[in-house]
Amino acid sequence: MALRSKLIAGNWKMNGLRAPGLALARDIAARAAAGSPACDLLVCPPATLVILVGEAIAGSGIALGGQDCHPKENGACTGDVSAEMLKDAGCSHVILGHSERRSGCGETDATVNAKVAAAWRAGLTAVVCVGETRAEREAGLATAVVSAQLSGSLPAGATADNLVVAYEPVWAIGTGLTPTLDDIAAIHAVMRTALPPQTRMLYGGSVNPGNAREILSLGDVDGALVGGASLKADDFWAIAEACR
Ligand code: PEP
Repeated sequence: MALRSKLIAGNWKMNGLRAPGLALARDIAARAAAGSPACDLLVCPPATLVILVGEAIAGSGIALGGQDCHPKENGACTGDVSAEMLKDAGCSHVILGHSERRSGCGETDATVNAKVAAAWRAGLTAVVCVGETRAEREAGLATAVVSAQLSGSLPAGATADNLVVAYEPVWAIGTGLTPTLDDIAAIHAVMRTALPPQTRMLYGGSVNPGNAREILSLGDVDGALVGGASLKADDFWAIAEACR
């Protein structure tokens, strides 16, 4: 069985004006270009910075992603960005179904499913996020919730090339809390059975330089989706180095 290379993905969320965003991108790109990174790297800046960051990381081997896309290719959808636009701007990936969009923007599994189909139509790899709330975990429903989100959010046609899945417990995002290693391993084992062989599965939720190595050492964890710590080049790089 081929070895899955690890992927460390930075989700900048709604952070970054031009000057600090460019400085961050250039810093990470310089580190990537100077050595051989221990993993594949992906940065997902806000839409306003996608093209600038793409220019800053060109030639570094770092991939570029969007944070969302509309299901339609174009049209009367004020404020939205299509998968085709992201592709045209230099993206290879797009994050979809992040819990902040599921809870804050009312996205259902059906919405995410349509967006994943749009991403694939445009030739993008979809980074699909799933994860339970604190109440769902306490009710013993974490596995059931994640399984239902996976089956509802993925159209037919998933492959290890067009899909990355990120397990992101809602209660772990931005809180400093993380599940136990056993709990992460258990969810990843369940997801593995539901996904095409060799699909990369990331863990996301308060990953930092202090906890990255033990999380990334779990057999089914193929990398991390990193929010807050991706905004500091030192921290993002330390997480990437933890893959070594
Ligand atoms: C995220 O938003 O995808 C995330 C994992 O955030 P954080 O690392 O800040 O918890």
